[in-house]
Amino acid sequence: MKRVKIIATVGPSTNSKEAIEELIKAGVDVFRLNFSHGDHDTHRKTIRMIRECSRRLSKPVAILQDISGPKIRIGQIEGLLQLKKGDVLRLAKKDTGDRYTVSVSHPEIIDFIKEGESVFFADGSIRTTALKKHRDYVELVVENEGVLSSKKGLNLPNSNLRISAITRKDEEDLAFGAGEGVDIVAVSFVNSKEDIIKAKDILNSYKANPWVIAKIETKRGVENIGEILNHSDGLMVARGDLGIEVGLEKVPVIQKRLIKKANAHAKPVIVATQMLLSMVNSPYPTRAEVSDIANALLDGADAVMLSDETTVGEYPIKAVEMLVRVIIETQKIYLYYKKYEAYDEDAIAASVADLCKGINPKAVISFTTSGTTAKNIAKYRPDVPIYAITNSEDVLRRLSIVWGVEPLCVMKGVKEPEVYIERLKEIIAQRQMFKESDKLILTMGSIIGREGSTNMIRVLEV
Ligand code: PGA
Ligand code: MN
Repeated sequence: MKRVKIIATVGPSTNSKEAIEELIKAGVDVFRLNFSHGDHDTHRKTIRMIRECSRRLSKPVAILQDISGPKIRIGQIEGLLQLKKGDVLRLAKKDTGDRYTVSVSHPEIIDFIKEGESVFFADGSIRTTALKKHRDYVELVVENEGVLSSKKGLNLPNSNLRISAITRKDEEDLAFGAGEGVDIVAVSFVNSKEDIIKAKDILNSYKANPWVIAKIETKRGVENIGEILNHSDGLMVARGDLGIEVGLEKVPVIQKRLIKKANAHAKPVIVATQMLLSMVNSPYPTRAEVSDIANALLDGADAVMLSDETTVGEYPIKAVEMLVRVIIETQKIYLYYKKYEAYDEDAIAASVADLCKGINPKAVISFTTSGTTAKNIAKYRPDVPIYAITNSEDVLRRLSIVWGVEPLCVMKGVKEPEVYIERLKEIIAQRQMFKESDKLILTMGSIIGREGSTNMIRVLEV
């Protein structure tokens, strides 16, 4: 059984019932819809398709809506603009028709750019420095040879630009996602806790409360990680933009730091971008990619994510199968049973982990109303599966993203622990999950289904 979860982004290569079914069978736990692409109609169809496939295969999977945030892009360029070191490029509020003048999707940034500041284009492949500011444009001096084309991304790694991570488009997308009942929302370019609070406020105004994951892909996001973690339900190490903003050489260390923090907060953390990039057009990955995945798992990632590999790649299923193989192999040497100073809220989880070491159960089965108990147990990384039972379909699906947690089933209308245990025994027998005399550790509250009530640990012999 694989403990680390797999997120696959849906795109042209995989946007069909057949492909989604195959991906689920291959081991995908969460589907990501990238709202930088596609219209609402397309996303709606994909969401319905995923739900249908999940139902047909009786496997809960979560839908993660990734909103695009203030990704700054340049405007139209005719053909390709060949640049060489020393060229002067103008970044302008409006198109002028001049070959060396490019417009920008957020004209207000022109006022923020300071002379001497770095401006990067096309995933950092073209680097420039601001030379001179004018009212409606900035002159940039090009530092390396490269080719620029329409709509390429623009990064300002050193700016103290204060644009909200939630754009007008994001607000519309959040409303759409709330209406469709997406399970998890990922907010791009999160810089501070305010960005998360704003996303949650918008979602709550539509009576939706998906988990909200902060994508860390800017310097300020990294600096403010403490407050961001306190307000978000998880993190994504968004290595694509992060690499441009902080410098590639800093990404591995930041990845380790973010994972460690998220783990200690019992919040799921995703490692994303270029995990198996070479598999976009090759059936085999590079050694370096496989090694990177294994190291992300050993760092403590809850989930690993595929982007281009499953959106435009030629081998989406093979890429997932490769992830599964690396996960299975690497978890053989995983250092289970993490040590933390137990605090009040997770004293039960800490005791469950201790008990696991003592009595060697086959599994932990947790009745978790909000998902918190399951996440807290996962924090200790026990070396047995954590089956989650809950009274809400939504919570069950969200738990698909959490390390080691197997969403088992929804059980409604049960209040008394003794009734719950009888029902659980029936489920176990029906599904033939264990053998006679296997030991299980159960957690529950004295009133089943009441949030924050878990106060019992029970050892059950099948
Ligand atoms: P993106 O986010 O794919 O939405 O840009 C991930 C990243 O930047 O790594
Ligand atoms: Mn990004």
